[in-house]
Amino acid sequence: MKELECEYCAAAIKPKKITVEHWYDGNLVIIKDVPVGVCNQCGERYYDAVTLEQLDIIAQERIPVPVMVFATS
Ligand SMILES: [Zn+2]
Repeated sequence: MKELECEYCAAAIKPKKITVEHWYDGNLVIIKDVPVGVCNQCGERYYDAVTLEQLDIIAQERIPVPVMVFATS
């Protein structure tokens, strides 16, 4: 795979897996292990089209994702 450059700071973009918090219809859907490119320098995230499409499908179908939230307040 070709090494990508950040369009803002030209640093290298590294593939990572992150947790995405996605609001849909007032409900927070948390999706884990989402593949994304993250800029080494500024932290800008780059999703590919397939990933975005998949996130949309997950949010719309509301596939239950069990997540524990630690409340600090
Ligand atoms: Zn950058």
